[in-house]
Amino acid sequence: MKAHIVGGGFGGLAAAALLIRNAGMSGPDITIYEADETLGGGFFLTGDANSGYNLPGSIFDKEFRCALDLLGKIPTQANPDIDVAEQFLTFNREHPFDDRTHILDHNLRRVHDQRYGLTLGDGLRLAKLSLTREASLDGQLIEDWFSPKFFGTEFWLLWSTQMGSLPQHTIIEFRRYLNRFVYLFPDLSTMANVLRSQFNQHEAFVQPLVAWLDTAQVNVVKDVFVSDIEFTGSDGDMTVSRLECVRGGASVSVDIASDDIVFVTTGSQAADLSAGTMATPPGPPLNPGRSWALWKKLAAKHAGFGNPDAFFGDDRIADSRWVTFTVTTTGSEFLDELTGLTHSGAGSGGLLTLKDSNWVISLSIFEQPEVLNQPPGTSIWWGYGLFPEKPGNFHPKPMHRCTGEEILREVLQHLGLKQGEPKTEKIVATSICIPCNMPYVNNIWLRRQRGDRPPVVPDGVTNLGLLGQYVELERDIAFTFEYSTRTAWEAVYRLLKRGPAPPNVYQGQFDLAAVWAAAKVFLGLTPV
Ligand SMILES: Cc1cc2nc3c(=O)[nH]c(=O)nc-3n(C[C@H](O)[C@H](O)[C@H](O)COP(=O)(O)OP(=O)(O)OC[C@H]3O[C@@H](n4cnc5c(N)ncnc54)[C@H](O)[C@@H]3O)c2cc1C
Repeated sequence: MKAHIVGGGFGGLAAAALLIRNAGMSGPDITIYEADETLGGGFFLTGDANSGYNLPGSIFDKEFRCALDLLGKIPTQANPDIDVAEQFLTFNREHPFDDRTHILDHNLRRVHDQRYGLTLGDGLRLAKLSLTREASLDGQLIEDWFSPKFFGTEFWLLWSTQMGSLPQHTIIEFRRYLNRFVYLFPDLSTMANVLRSQFNQHEAFVQPLVAWLDTAQVNVVKDVFVSDIEFTGSDGDMTVSRLECVRGGASVSVDIASDDIVFVTTGSQAADLSAGTMATPPGPPLNPGRSWALWKKLAAKHAGFGNPDAFFGDDRIADSRWVTFTVTTTGSEFLDELTGLTHSGAGSGGLLTLKDSNWVISLSIFEQPEVLNQPPGTSIWWGYGLFPEKPGNFHPKPMHRCTGEEILREVLQHLGLKQGEPKTEKIVATSICIPCNMPYVNNIWLRRQRGDRPPVVPDGVTNLGLLGQYVELERDIAFTFEYSTRTAWEAVYRLLKRGPAPPNVYQGQFDLAAVWAAAKVFLGLTPV
C-alpha cells in the first residue's frame, strides 16, 4: 500500500507524519505532491533582511490538541532533546503576552471599557448562541444575531481583530469560536492566554516536521500541480485510480493501485497571495485559482465533494481579503515609539489596533529574532488591515493598491508621526515594508451551509481523504493549523482504521471554571 498526499502545507505534512506514527506506514511508501517550490503553504517565510521579509502573524492556544500532540514527537532543529511542542509551550510560559494597550483611538488614547462595553443582555445572547444547536444555524450570519450596538463594542473589536470575524460572516463559525475560546474572556484585552510561536511558523513548525519526514525517507515532489483525479466505479463506490499532474509544463500521470490511499488538500487560505515591495503594490498572483482548482474538478464529479464556490472566486474576495505587511527595520525609532505609547515591552504586546483607521490596522511587535538568521540590529514587526478594501485615511485607495512605503507612512501618520518630520523620515529610511495581498485568507468565515465543506472521507469514496480548512469536522475552528492537523488525523484513522482516534475538541461551554470566569466579567465581579 502506498499513500499519495496532494499539498505540502502543514496539513499534508501532518498526514505523512501521522501515517508513519499512528498507522505504522513506512516513509518511502508515502509521497507528497506540492505545486509550489517550497513546502509550508500558509506558513510561509520569504525574503531576507536586505529585501525585506514576508511572513504571517501568529495566534494559537494551549488547546491545539492534535497539533501539539504531533509536534510533541518532533525534535527541534536546535536541540534534538527538546521537542517542538515543548519549545513552544515553554517559550509562551516564560514570555506570556501582557498587552497593556490593545486599542488606540485617533487621539492616541487607550480605549478600554468595563466588561469590554458589553451589556448583561449581550452576555445572555452570547450564552443563548453557545447553547443553540449548530444544525439550526445554517446560512445565518453574525449580524442576524446581534444588535448594531454590539458591533461597536470594545469586545467586538478585540474579538474580530484576533479571530477575523465580521458582522456579515457565518454565525456557525462564530459559535464554534465562542465555545472554543470562552475561557479567553477575562484576558481578551491582555491576550494573556493567547500563544504564539517563538519565531516564525515556517522555522518553528514546518522545518522541523519536514526534517523529521526527511529522516523517515518520505518522498517529496515539489513544483508538481495535481490537476485532476480519476476514479473507477460509480457514485456509491468510487476508488481513485489515477492522479493527473502538471510538472514543468508537461503532463504526468500517477497510477493509483486499488489498495493505495490518497489525501487531498482542497484549498488554501494563502490562495492567490501576492507580495509587493517598498516601491510597488502587490501584483497579480502567479497562478490564479490553482489552490482550489482540483477541488472544483472534484466537486463537478460528485456532489459529496462540497461547494468550493462558497469560499473561492472573485465574488468572495470583498468579505475575505486581508492585506498584511511585514516590516524589517534596522532602526530602533519605531519600536521605541510604540513601546513608549503602549507601555508593552517588545514581544509582549499582542496586538495594537488603531481603531479609527479606515483599514482597522492592527500591529504586532514580535519577540526578536523572528527569523532565525536575522542579522543583529535588525527587527521585524508585522501588521494587517481588517478592512483593506476601504480607502486609507491618508492614502485614499484600497490597501492592496498601496506600496509598502505608502502603508508604512499610513501607519506612522495614525501614530502621529507626520510626513517630513525627522523621526518619521528616519523610520521610513531604515525600514522595508513588504505588503502582501491575501484575497482568500479570511474566507473560512464566509456564509456557509451544511455540505459546503465535504466530510474528511466523502460518502461512497473508498480510498480518498480530504485535508485542510475546507473540510467539515465537528466542533473545531478553522483558521488554525490545529484544524488541518485534525483533518489529517481523522482521515488516517478513518481510512486505515489504525492508531488512536483524534483527541476531543476542547469545548469551553462545558468547562464550568471557564464559564464562571466569563460570567464574572459580565456580572462586573472581575474587572478586565
Ligand atoms: C497569513 C496567514 C496567517 C495564519 N496564521 C495562523 C495562525 O496564527 N495560527 C494558526 O493556527 N493558523 C494560521 N493560519 C492558518 C494556516 O493556513 C493553517 O494553520 C495551516 O497552515 C493550513 O495548512 P494546510 O496544509 O491545510 O493548507 P496550506 O498551508 O494552505 O497548504 C496547502 C498547500 O497545498 C498546495 N496545493 C493545493 N492544491 C494543490 C494541487 N492541486 N497540487 C499540488 N499542491 C497543491 C498549495 O500549494 C499549498 O502549499 C494562517 C494562514 C495564513 C494564510
